[in-house]
Amino acid sequence: MIPYKFTRIYIDSIAREDEITRRVLEYFPDVPYSIVEEAETFSHQLARLSLTEGKRILWLTHFKGRFLKPCPGTATTYRCCNYLVINETTNCPIDCTYCILQGYINNPAITIYTNYQKIISELREISHLNSRRILRIGTGELTDSLALDPVTRLSERLIAEVQKLPNILLELKSKTDHINHLQEVSPEKIVLSWSVNPEEIVASDEHKATPLVRRLKAARKAAERGFLIGFHFDPIIFVLDWEELYSHLIETLGQFIPSEQIAWISLGSLRYPPQLKEIVLSRFPKTRIFSGEQISGLDGKSRYLRPLRLKMYKAIYQKLREVFGQPFVYFCMESEEMWKKVLDKTPKTNNDVDWYFAQHLSARFPQLNLPKPMKEIYQQNIRFGASEK
Ligand code: SF4
Repeated sequence: MIPYKFTRIYIDSIAREDEITRRVLEYFPDVPYSIVEEAETFSHQLARLSLTEGKRILWLTHFKGRFLKPCPGTATTYRCCNYLVINETTNCPIDCTYCILQGYINNPAITIYTNYQKIISELREISHLNSRRILRIGTGELTDSLALDPVTRLSERLIAEVQKLPNILLELKSKTDHINHLQEVSPEKIVLSWSVNPEEIVASDEHKATPLVRRLKAARKAAERGFLIGFHFDPIIFVLDWEELYSHLIETLGQFIPSEQIAWISLGSLRYPPQLKEIVLSRFPKTRIFSGEQISGLDGKSRYLRPLRLKMYKAIYQKLREVFGQPFVYFCMESEEMWKKVLDKTPKTNNDVDWYFAQHLSARFPQLNLPKPMKEIYQQNIRFGASEK
């Protein structure tokens, strides 16, 4: 059983017959539920819930817009990687101190969109429109990909579809060990990835997430089954003994996962819209996440001073190379200068970062038969279809 407790399930009448709705009700037979006829009026009521109350409510409805979108980082002044996100659920039963959703979502209830068939048609369309390009697509942007997946079983549907499409890698990103339900699934073109932080930070700031070693045991199991593995050092958090803690963390990762199965590793230091700080301190007054000196970045988000970021990234990258040889490491939302100083690469655009990925993935995993990387393809922007607007 998943470890989260819910007090009530609300079902939009439009979603009452859906497969995911049935699964949710079967999984939680003791949680009372109600059918809602006036979804729009009702969502205003949900908006009045506190963040903590919202995490105990499930709201099942349909998403009317486009599920598949460019990662929000794409629109910033920092380098992004042309990643695409599927927002199949908003909000999350885990409760990380630093979670930016706390300042971002209008409706604190955990909202599961049950009309997943629309995601499938969007995947087909974008695959077709960009047939000569490798697309990296992930759930887990506005939630944790696997926290509720044993309930909804959505990933199995998406995996089955992606495996019919020649150019999509699907990433499921998590802070849980919820992979048992994926035991029968083919691992081809699927990256299971874990956000990692030293155990001390997991314990103090990743409330209700799975402890680190259990995550890594799940990662090892997944690697043994043939899934590609990703790690996200994000957010990297400054604490006084950060160097020792992150060094130990990387050594621990090395004991669990062979480097040849690592698809990618991201680095991103703590960053957040300034208004988040007050919300976080009111909910988690003891947190130490704001201890390093911070400035407002080019995107208006608070982040550590550049020299500190540089020092942390350099130390972490050096340790990653010591433990894993030549892993593919990239930054999430960092400047071109940081890319140059730490990774010795100079991406001028997001398309350049995408191109690095394409070269790396085809060279490292030829068995995936991904489209052969051609530079001119990656100089163009990803094409989105009419149904996705
Ligand atoms: S796992 Fe991700 S989405 Fe969930 S609370 Fe933590 S940061 Fe937020």
